[in-house]
Amino acid sequence: MRVANTVTDLIGNTPLVRLNRVTEGIAATVLAKVEYFNPGGSAKDRIAERIIDAAERDGLLGPGGTIVEPTSGNTGVGLALVAQQRGYRCVFVLPDKVGEDKRSVLTAYGAEIIVTPTSVAPEDPDSYYSVSDRLAAEIPGAFKPNQYANPNGPRSHYETTGPEIWRDTDGTVTHFVAGVGTGGTITGTGRYLKEVSNGGVTVIGADPVGSVYSGGSGRPYLVEGVGEDMWPPAYDPSIPDQIIAVSDRESFEMTRRLAREEGLLVGGSSGMAVVAALKAAASLSADDTVVVLLPDGGRGYLGKIFNDAWLRSYGFSEPPTEQTVRDLIA
Ligand code: PMP
Repeated sequence: MRVANTVTDLIGNTPLVRLNRVTEGIAATVLAKVEYFNPGGSAKDRIAERIIDAAERDGLLGPGGTIVEPTSGNTGVGLALVAQQRGYRCVFVLPDKVGEDKRSVLTAYGAEIIVTPTSVAPEDPDSYYSVSDRLAAEIPGAFKPNQYANPNGPRSHYETTGPEIWRDTDGTVTHFVAGVGTGGTITGTGRYLKEVSNGGVTVIGADPVGSVYSGGSGRPYLVEGVGEDMWPPAYDPSIPDQIIAVSDRESFEMTRRLAREEGLLVGGSSGMAVVAALKAAASLSADDTVVVLLPDGGRGYLGKIFNDAWLRSYGFSEPPTEQTVRDLIA
């Protein structure tokens, strides 16, 4: 029988799929590693499992324990899924700007959520950070994963994502491209691929224009899950050979093209990473193989990136869907 014993056994071993349309005019092979195939729908399932394994091993988390983390997104889903399978309680602290759908996903998995006001300073006792610190200190048996600093985040990618890419390309990968948020994905995967190839793999980070990794000050951008206004300990800046800054407009256009042309309904950070991958691939030859990691699926962004009115409200150009229709009629 081909049966997984628990849903967490399905974490990792995500597929590589060739990009065929958006790569027009590019000689190199460009392969997408599609992380929405993880059971919680994102690459964050990997770090959640590894962080919880390590916490159990180190005696930081035991029977009856509670996981407390400030997170509203993919990391929360990953932690909730693994915690539920192992009998831990999850309490997530989120700012009130987080939409109803994202809250509901977390509670659907059985997590408890505490909503804090967005409009207070980080040092305010009611802030997202203060409340999660207080809960972690007050709840008996509480464990705070702290994905921005926990070395088991990058380690999970060193142990799984990197080896999978090397195995599935038969060692032919020459370039690896990923967006940088906490930096865990690029640090762990990039480190493994550089080691196993004796420096033969070039590692390229994709970063929203305005974020610190590409020299910005942390100025706001709309793409979610990537970019920072500080340098997290999970990120090793010596791993990427190059960082490519990508605008929101480019990220969103590519995100929509991936759905329409490649059948890949993914999030905005995936579009951003593909833009960087194609910029890098433009100067490469048919001997090169670029692997670009797509962190999550697009269902969570239907009201934003895939919504024409939302895009227009931020001044982005007419969406390609409408443009195409008008061109056909003309
Ligand atoms: N894309 C999305 C949608 C994410 O949630 C994250 C995680 N913050 C990233 C990209 C970046 O991954 P990492 O934190 O490993 O750099």
